[in-house]
Amino acid sequence: MSDTTRNYVSGQWIESATGETIEVENPARPSEVVARYQDSSTEDATEGVEAAADAADDWAATPGPERGRILREAATLLAERKDELTDLLVAEEGKANAEAGGEVQRAIDIFYHFAVKAAERGGTVKNPSSPNQNLYTIEEPVGVAALITPWNYPIAIPAWKLAPALAAGNTVVLKPASAAPGVAMEIARALDEAGLPDGVLNVVTGSGSVVGTEFIEHDAVDAVSFTGSSEVGEMVYDQATDSGKRVQTELGGKNPTIVADSADPAEAADLVASGAFGVTGQACTACSRAIVHEDVLDEFVAELVDRAESIDIGPGDEHEMGPQVSESELESTLDYVEVAEAEGATLVSGGGIPESSAVESGYFVEPTVFTDVDSEMRIAQEEVFGPLVAVIAVSDFDEALAVANDVEYGLAASIVTDDHTEANRFVREAESGVVKVNDKTTGLELHVPFGGFKRSSSETWREQGDEGLDFYTIEKTVYDNY
Ligand code: NAD
Repeated sequence: MSDTTRNYVSGQWIESATGETIEVENPARPSEVVARYQDSSTEDATEGVEAAADAADDWAATPGPERGRILREAATLLAERKDELTDLLVAEEGKANAEAGGEVQRAIDIFYHFAVKAAERGGTVKNPSSPNQNLYTIEEPVGVAALITPWNYPIAIPAWKLAPALAAGNTVVLKPASAAPGVAMEIARALDEAGLPDGVLNVVTGSGSVVGTEFIEHDAVDAVSFTGSSEVGEMVYDQATDSGKRVQTELGGKNPTIVADSADPAEAADLVASGAFGVTGQACTACSRAIVHEDVLDEFVAELVDRAESIDIGPGDEHEMGPQVSESELESTLDYVEVAEAEGATLVSGGGIPESSAVESGYFVEPTVFTDVDSEMRIAQEEVFGPLVAVIAVSDFDEALAVANDVEYGLAASIVTDDHTEANRFVREAESGVVKVNDKTTGLELHVPFGGFKRSSSETWREQGDEGLDFYTIEKTVYDNY
């Protein structure tokens, strides 16, 4: 038996009039229903937006330090429930316990961070050109922000949108992804208990095309922040800009790691394996292309296969690598294995469903490595969103850089090299919003900006860091003569 969670609107937990629910199954044990959520209607979404609009003026007028106090209190409540939230995240989304715990901690840290920012930010004083004048800016909230989030970081991404939105004085409607909404609902519970006034946050679960569309199109919504696939995000961007809203979309990736001839193949394999197979390859910043100098190719591939084959796969509560989130995501990865073989790539590791007894009936897939990949092949161009790496051999740095940039995406890119010049050229010439030297593609700091280039982002506003607050803020410039 599982609970049915209600929508959170105007400070109340309410059922959708549809009477329909969404069932979330445990991807490691699909016969187990973890929880049920409201399958909401357009009317439910409208109610959420109207509640946010009604609460907007009072929340905007609430002093920043008081807004910060509520965020801090919510962070403390989330920290007290960290183990419970981690278990819920593992059960709904499937990632391994250590990964889920890290993600919950990130959400907690984000709320603490923006609690401080809520007090600190407010505008800047400038030197006036005239005597007897105060020249300064005041930061005001944009208004009602609609947040639409994906399943793969189901607590961190809602947190990194919500905390700056609330800190800056906006009211919010949030639609979490239907595959794993539980931890986002728990953020709402913590904020409610921390004393967030009614209507400041409203969370409505349901399908993107129903709830999401209403959020994007409703006149009372001023800003839309979307994270998800490029296909949906580009549609959302057009819809939201057509209705005059401020929009940010952060989307898919096809992230490369270049392994230079000066790299230690074992160190490079550690970084690629961690970037590619961590969180079951279901990270927007996951490494899905290793672009390897031919001089270190054989040694690197042997080391990478060694790591792929030593990963302990099974339910995330007890194993190192959990399942894919759903049957359709698993099938999509297995389809890419077939496509890659048909296009002439060589499967050197994985490519199927693991045979281990730990795996039972869940949506598990083996970490997969392909070699003999050309940059034009589909596994070198399209986001797979599973633990699959395409190894592309190159003969020099210029070719490596050209291959790295030869995709529609530009989210995260890394290089493993001992050559300082190559590293610096890579930093400047990689077409990517996040660039790392001697590091994996995954892993972000919360106090620096994050966002992609090309089809990975609308390139309008960055998330996280101070830049993350800018999206939720509009500046007024004051010339005060005395
Ligand atoms: P998705 O695009 O299918 O869904 C994302 C959200 O949009 C969900 O809440 C969904 O219900 C909603 N949605 C779907 N159709 C909609 C519509 N017509 N109108 C409004 N909303 C709609 O993505 P997903 O499968 O949940 O997540 C995986 C994708 O997200 C991958 O492509 C991954 O790279 C990307 N992602 C990007 C980042 C980043 O910061 N760049 C971070 C995490 C995930």
